[in-house]
Amino acid sequence: MKTIGLIGGMSWESSLEYYRIINESIKEKLGGLHSAKLILYSVDFAEIEALQQAGDWGAAARHMVAAGQSLEKAGADFIVLCTNTMHLLAGDIRSQIRIPFLHIAEAAGRAVRAAGMQTVGLLGTRFTMENDFITRRLAEKFGLKILVPEPADRESVHRIIFEEICRGILMPESRRLYLSIIDDLAHRGAQGVILGCTEIELLVRPEDTKIPLFPTTRIHALAAVEYAVGGAEGIVE
Ligand code: GLU
Repeated sequence: MKTIGLIGGMSWESSLEYYRIINESIKEKLGGLHSAKLILYSVDFAEIEALQQAGDWGAAARHMVAAGQSLEKAGADFIVLCTNTMHLLAGDIRSQIRIPFLHIAEAAGRAVRAAGMQTVGLLGTRFTMENDFITRRLAEKFGLKILVPEPADRESVHRIIFEEICRGILMPESRRLYLSIIDDLAHRGAQGVILGCTEIELLVRPEDTKIPLFPTTRIHALAAVEYAVGGAEGIVE
């Protein structure tokens, strides 16, 4: 079994899910007392969020690269970055580590294609919905058409992530708002919706919607297990 290197803490609420899902999946696959070999490098999210707000992606990249290099030195066999947003800096991390990197959009794109869909909605932070570091890969590599919410809804989705879910606050009215935004995406032609922020699946569950959801924490964590135990060699870069 390979040792998974997790860059987490963005937020820790979702990193906890990675830890749980990875271990549950290893237990299911290997049985007995098996558990995951992993190393977690968890940042102080307040520092990172301030850099995101300031648009200081250079400083944020230095944090991410340092985390990746620490994991490499500590013996991780590959890197899993436990946030969609910080994949904006995936190239910086990859260029400065020697071990493989398991991109969250690679895992999500495979899951959507495996479900036979061509058009999907994407919810995430403003950074994820309005830049192309996730959508370009989904479009170019997996041939997907990606729909994002209208501007006012994007603002609400973003605000609820940072003001509520990342702080462990799960509000019924925010769930209702997310569900209505998911409905809108479905009416616009989305066959499914990628929950492209690692906290959203804490608020919205697959059973809450009629259309299929693609929760990126679960999908990414399960892909990490597949690679760690062998049999998913092509998924890393
Ligand atoms: N966990 C979130 C994501 O998947 C947002 C937190 C962050 O800005 O990294 O995008």
